[in-house]
Amino acid sequence: MPKERIFIAENEAETALNIAAKLESLGYIVAGQADRGETAIQKVEELQPDLVLMEFHLQGQVNGLKAAKHIHANFDIPVVFIGAHADTSTLQSAVKAQAYGYITTPLEAHDLNSNIALALYKHSMDRKLRASEERYALAVRAANDGIWDWNLKTNEIYYSIRWKEMLGFKEDEIGTDPNDWFKLVHPDDQKQVQDNLAAHLKGVTPHFECEYRIKHSNGAYRWGVSRGLAVRDAKGHAYRMAGSQSDITARKLAEERLAHDAVHDALTGLPNRVLFLDRLQNRLERTKRNPEDLFAVMFIDLDRFKVVNDSLGHAFGDQLLITAANRLKQCLRPNDTISRLSGDEFAILLDTVSDINNARRVADRIKGQLITTTLLGVVERSPAASIGIVLFNSRYSTAGELLRDADSAMYYAKSMGGNQYQVFDDTMHTSAIELIRIEGELKHAVERNELLVHYQPIVSLANGKPVGAEALLRWLHPLRGLLAPQDFIQVAEDTGLILSIGEYVLRTACAQAKAWREAGHPNFWVSVNISARQFQDKNLVEKITRIFTETGLPGEALRLEITESVAVRDKDYTVKIMNELNAQGVHTSLDDFGTGYSSLSYLKQFPLKVLKIDQSFIQDIQNNPKNESLIAAIITMARSLGLEVVGEGVEKVEQLTFLQSLLCDNAQGFLLGSPISGMEISKLLEKEFPGPIGV
Ligand code: C2E
Ligand code: MG
Ligand code: MG
Repeated sequence: MPKERIFIAENEAETALNIAAKLESLGYIVAGQADRGETAIQKVEELQPDLVLMEFHLQGQVNGLKAAKHIHANFDIPVVFIGAHADTSTLQSAVKAQAYGYITTPLEAHDLNSNIALALYKHSMDRKLRASEERYALAVRAANDGIWDWNLKTNEIYYSIRWKEMLGFKEDEIGTDPNDWFKLVHPDDQKQVQDNLAAHLKGVTPHFECEYRIKHSNGAYRWGVSRGLAVRDAKGHAYRMAGSQSDITARKLAEERLAHDAVHDALTGLPNRVLFLDRLQNRLERTKRNPEDLFAVMFIDLDRFKVVNDSLGHAFGDQLLITAANRLKQCLRPNDTISRLSGDEFAILLDTVSDINNARRVADRIKGQLITTTLLGVVERSPAASIGIVLFNSRYSTAGELLRDADSAMYYAKSMGGNQYQVFDDTMHTSAIELIRIEGELKHAVERNELLVHYQPIVSLANGKPVGAEALLRWLHPLRGLLAPQDFIQVAEDTGLILSIGEYVLRTACAQAKAWREAGHPNFWVSVNISARQFQDKNLVEKITRIFTETGLPGEALRLEITESVAVRDKDYTVKIMNELNAQGVHTSLDDFGTGYSSLSYLKQFPLKVLKIDQSFIQDIQNNPKNESLIAAIITMARSLGLEVVGEGVEKVEQLTFLQSLLCDNAQGFLLGSPISGMEISKLLEKEFPGPIGV
């Protein structure tokens, strides 16, 4: 039964009574009555009924229409009119007064009931809707997002105030046209926005999302992200789409800054090596498609830069580099790329050249420009440079190759006295210049931490467990990738760089061995290769002792590998050093046994502990049955001399089985594990080894 409280506003007392009786019979409560507009307003405010029944022609200083409007607007109480006429103009007035119904007289009880019930229902729904809208508006404001709501049938968009504000527009400056939005999108981003919208409307994507540039009313582009969702009918056709719009300019700028810094040099702002190689590679691909379209690469190294830097200080050095960068830029065309590779090295990509003479002319220009006197504080310095040039030809497939050859040509120019350019030719690869180049790079490699030590497990044949590892040097070359010792160790040996490099390997390997031992492998050892020059170094033992003190590694955890040729060079010296090492617990191994004198009787004279059989022997087993008996003899004799035997270069199961059958102690080879990083060895050591291997 309804219990709503109804207020009656009616001129005629009799009619009012009549209505009241009907309401009561229908179960409503009559909250009060009034016979004039102004009293109706006053009493309704006081009594707060659920609904007002009001005579359309209510009189008073305030008439029925005005009273109804006031009640609706100020007290949020629904008004239903009662009137004799239901003509169009009357009904229009009722609508304007925001009435919830109009009942014609004479009043029928069922009319009254249904009109009141509907009005109450409709009013309660309006209230809920308004509350929800308010909640939504609050949420939107709190999120600081702009909102858009697109009626796809009428093609009108509602843009929230915040949406407009974000772009610097006032409420009335943007209408309801979708183009008010799309015309502001940056021309380069238009397609992406349209494609993403279309994809979602077609149902290809679960929601619409797009980051794009959009024009602010001040003319500048901002970065925005728009997200939205379509509402679909039963057939899946979208008829409405709504979403949000946020300003992400700050985030985008930060991202751009980071991305820029990652590929640019901080001092000169020029592209760095990574970006240069990337552009060079792209340029190379272009010429591969169209071989007529030539380009050239220049490698520039400032002459005597180190002297300036060391004598005048880094601030001067930096200033000189900036000056040089600016002058180099002036010699180029807009499509050329100039990069600072490192230190005083620059590279240039000449985007379009017809032949080598083009590049020569640019090099001449650069020489002229650089020599213009530079004032650095009080001292006058003008940078001169050595320039290497390489013109693309079809033999080149990577950017790294081009840069390497330009670099070789630059070294050639430098070796000819500097302040000149040289065009690369093939002889430069094999010449002494190439060695000078590697030497220069290798010096940098040490400074720039490009040298790494990898470790190859050495495995016990008795139980299949790794018992130690051989330290093997690698060079992570910025252009040529990971290089093996054969590519550079000879240069290191010839130039004496091996002394510092070797010490670095020793220190790194000892620190690593200490870490493995502390991680629960107390008997694991590391074996380090020692070159001829290192072995001859009078301070070798002292250096090793120092490294033990530094790293806390006990002597028995280190083995040193030397080759036969090194050992036999000066027998007395070798014996002396080996004895000193033995005194510290350091074992010496004879590496690559079988490639030199291979005289076991000679070996007896050295206080050696380990013999490593060269991989060429092991790998020859199947091809050459004579080798089998030779290896058998070597192993047997070595054991009788008390030497531990290690088989190197084990690649096949048969080789492993063979060594096992001869009771060889340990083995090393790709079959058992390739050289890997120290961290990977740590992981390997954590594994379970089930028992004897290979058989
Ligand atoms: P090595 O001392 O005889 O080292 C073993 C070489 O054989 C390593 O080559 C290793 O990768 C390779 N090897 C291992 N298992 C197999 C296999 O199953 N099959 C084949 N074909 N090869 C295998 P890597 O690392 O290229 O080293 C070459 C040489 O460079 C070494 O020969 C060593 O004489 C020298 N070397 C390496 N690191 C250093 C170092 O730090 N200092 C000095 N002075 N020389 C080093
Ligand atoms: Mg070795
Ligand atoms: Mg070896």
